[in-house]
Parts: sequence; structure tokens; C-alpha cells
Amino acid sequence: MRYFSTRGAEDSLSFEDTVLTGLAHNGGLFIPESIPQLPANWETDWPSLSFQQLSVEVLSLYISPSEISRAELTDLVSKSYSTFRHPEVTPLVPLDDNTYILELFHGPTYAFKDVALQLLGNLFEFFLARRNARKASAAPRERLTVLGATSGDTGSAAIYGLRGKADIDIFILHPKGRVSPIQEAQMTTVPDANVHNLAVKGTFDDCQDIVKQLFADRAFNDAHKLGAINSINWARILAQTVYYFLSYFAARKQLPPDSSLQLQYVVPTGNFGDILAGYYARRMGLPVARLAIATNSNDILARFWATGRYEKVASPSPTDAPRDTPVAPTEGASDGKQATQDASGVKETLSPAMDILVSSNFERLLWYLAFEARGGDVQAACADVKGWMDGVKKDGRAVVPTSVLELARRDFVAERVSDEQTTETIASVYATAKYVADPHTAVALAAAKRIASKGVRQIVLSTAHPAKFSDAVTQALSTVSSFDFERDVLPDEFKGLLEKPRRVVDIGAPDGELVKSAIVQAFAAKEKNAHSVAAAASV
Ligand SMILES: *Cc1c(COP(=O)(O)O)cnc(C)c1O
Repeated sequence: MRYFSTRGAEDSLSFEDTVLTGLAHNGGLFIPESIPQLPANWETDWPSLSFQQLSVEVLSLYISPSEISRAELTDLVSKSYSTFRHPEVTPLVPLDDNTYILELFHGPTYAFKDVALQLLGNLFEFFLARRNARKASAAPRERLTVLGATSGDTGSAAIYGLRGKADIDIFILHPKGRVSPIQEAQMTTVPDANVHNLAVKGTFDDCQDIVKQLFADRAFNDAHKLGAINSINWARILAQTVYYFLSYFAARKQLPPDSSLQLQYVVPTGNFGDILAGYYARRMGLPVARLAIATNSNDILARFWATGRYEKVASPSPTDAPRDTPVAPTEGASDGKQATQDASGVKETLSPAMDILVSSNFERLLWYLAFEARGGDVQAACADVKGWMDGVKKDGRAVVPTSVLELARRDFVAERVSDEQTTETIASVYATAKYVADPHTAVALAAAKRIASKGVRQIVLSTAHPAKFSDAVTQALSTVSSFDFERDVLPDEFKGLLEKPRRVVDIGAPDGELVKSAIVQAFAAKEKNAHSVAAAASV
């Protein structure tokens, strides 16, 4: 299987190059040259498989055995999911007769991103080890410096995906004092020498700008072989397809054998990676009636499904209006109170992992929609996508033809959920089912309730453990006297986390040069340590 860019023009890549490259040079995202169909035996042979076994079956449809053999893939998968606390990895929990919750938060950082990043870390290590094994012993080793910015959630999952991996260092920038205490502790208490936290005096946007600046710095990038692990990496999407299959079988098992199953997945959505995995599963042949997108007030996707316009809106470009001009309320902005909005136009909500302006993986879906609307013409689809994405970059918007919007509406619905509705949902789900939902999961639960229909069962994806978002959860349940956060929600692993020793380097100003020298110094210190260890060993 080979992969090509949604914007065309470039040669296709192997799976290995796709994973190590991340983003195509022309700005496009990599997609497989075709979507494999499920083998004839899937319905009879797959239902009894574990998450790990299913991963091997599904992933091997997208990875040529000449690149990763079945035995190697089995090893990689079992290593990746051995870090999960639940034996089923992603268990399906019934909420009521028609609703199930698919818990994706049993990985090391208690968030769904672990599912993908545990595998991605092992893939990186596997590819580097193989490249280095093929080298003459005197040749310099190939290595990778992963660099990323986080507002909290992704950083810890990335760190836990890469901690202790050979030939890889990871540097994560976070805005000092602006991530939640638990998230900060999760990132900075990791003891592995290849993990580096940089606390930047500034905002998340400053951190992101610095990361972009360093990636664009040719000399620095060449010297340190920068790598990214952002949500557009193909391996992340692929890893996530597995739990759609697992949960389908789990739902079937809970029903009488002859009953038909009309299934709808409801997914709390930010960058469109999680739900895109469901789209691939469906296109492979998994019988899913419909996929439902649940957004918070950062509702670019809900607006797209309403209008066919993919536009930032909330952020007028500086040429349109001065920055301090009040922004017109967006369509459907019926929240009791308007969420606060930062300078980039992103609104701060109770579900911060979904606070996005544009959904980076949406480009992949647009490609498939364009491809179908164009009657299967690859070049035309690439040209359409390139045109739309150029429009988003230049004018902050793209408008698709009705034919494309109709195709999107055939497979998906999209619902926007306010902070108020999120809080209400946490309270009502606890009152009716004694289930504590985190605010991201609550966004999806609120959407699921709105779009429920007779005869359709819904699987709601739960993307974070409620303990990670303690403020939202304790606030929503503050009037419930029987609820005790420490007793009912807080995992033992979180207790004492705040007191553990931290490893973090302060960056006193939002300045790329300071970050560069911190990275250089970190490598110098590692080098020195390695020499002193070697010297001590030789004494
Ligand atoms: C990243 C994240 C999401 C959004 O997932 P996407 O793949 O970006 O759509 C939702 N909830 C939580 C807790 C997350 O960390």
C-alpha cells in the first residue's frame, strides 16, 4: 500500500515514509491509494479477537508485509497496548437501552490520544532502529527530535508515547502556568532523559509560533532532524480505526442474536482525527448507519454541515477589520453566554481539547467527497482540495458545491453543543445513570440525545477520564451531595502526582532563539552525562 497527498503533485510514499514525513511538502495530507475492503471472513472470525489481534488484522490491510511483517506488527501492537490499564483496552459500557459509551481513556495519560500515540512512538522507534541497523557502524546514527506545542492534552500523550524511546528526544513547549495543574504534572514528572518540557512565558499561540519557526529554520531542522507527531499523522488515524470494529462487535454481543443493529457513532470532535477513523472503518465495510460530529462552540464543522461553507468566520482577517472590532455572532450562537475568545479567534470552552479554529484532518474527508463528486477523478479531486485549502489559507474560507455538501450529509450529521449544555449533560447523565462523564464526552452525549431516533443504537466515544477535567466535573456536580470527586473519580495514579519532582526548563520570553538554545543545551547536557557514565564505567 502506498500513500499520496490530498493536494496531488507529489510521488506516492511507503507507509514508513508517510509516517516519518507527517505532512506532505505541498501542505496536503497523506491518504492511502485505495481504501481496503474487509476480508470475507471478518464477520465470522473477527468478533472474538482482542483489541491487539484486531489491530493486527486492520493495520495489516494498510501496511505491506514487506514493510512490517505480521510478526513485527504483532510485537509493535502488543507493546503499544500493554500500557493500557483495561484488559479490553477500549471497553464498551452500556449507558441505557440504546446508548453505549466507548471508553477510550484507559491509556497512560487517561485520554484517547494515547490509543494513537502509544503506537506512533513504537513505530518511530522501530523505523529508526531498522535504519540504524542497516548502517555501517561508524556512520552517524539516524535520530529524531520531536518538537511540539501543547495547551495541555496532547503534550502528555505525546510524552508518554515517546518516553524512553531509543534515538528519539521529545521537546514539548507549554505556556507556563496556563495548563491545568494535573496536565502540567503529567508532563513534567516523567523521569526519562529523552523527555524535555519547556515552560514558555507566553500563550499557547506563542508556543505554536515558535514550533513553526523552528520547523521552518532549515539549518536548525537539518541539525536536529525535527519530527512532528501532530494529529494529521496517518498512523494516528489508522490506530484509531480499530476501536470502531471492536465496539461494533461488543455492541452486537449485547443484543439478541437475530436482532438487527442500526448503529450510529457520536464523536466529540476537534481536529477530525477520531471521527475520520470511523469514516475509514465504514468505508472498509463496517455497517455503520451514520457518523455524528459533536463540536463545542468552536463549530466550524457544524457550520459546514449547515451551509457548505468551511470558514473560520470568528476570525476576520486583519484586512477585513481591525482586531478589536466585535465579531458578529456565528450562526447558531445561542449559548447563554458567549465563550471567551482569544486573539486567534479560538473560543475557550469547558472542552479545551476541542478548541480549534479549523479541523486539520477534515481535508482528508473533503478529498473523498470531491473524488466521488468528480466521478472518481483523482486529479480533479486533488485540484478541488488544493483550491479549497488555498481559499481557507488566503481568505479564511472555502465554499464547496452542493453536490459535495450532499455527499457529506449522506454520511454525517454535525451538532454544536454549548458549555451550558455540556454542564447540564454531565449533571443529567450522573443523575440518571450514575456515570461521570468528562466535558468532552458530555459534548457528544448532549449531541447524541438531540439526534436519537427510534431503532438506532448509539455509541458515544468517551475521549477523556473525568479526573483530567476536574473543574468542569466538580462544578457540574456541585449540588449533588452524594458525589465526592476524590472518592468517585480521582484515580490512585493521580494522587500524589502534584508532589512528585518536576523536570522542566523555564523559557523566560516567547522567543524562538531562547528555545533553540535550550534544545542545544539539553543535548549538550545529555552528551556530558553519557560521557561521565562511560568514564565511570571504564574506571
Ligand atoms: C483530541 C481530543 C478530542 C478531539 O479529537 P480529534 O481527533 O481532534 O477530533 C476530543 N476529546 C479529547 C479529550 C481530546 O484529547
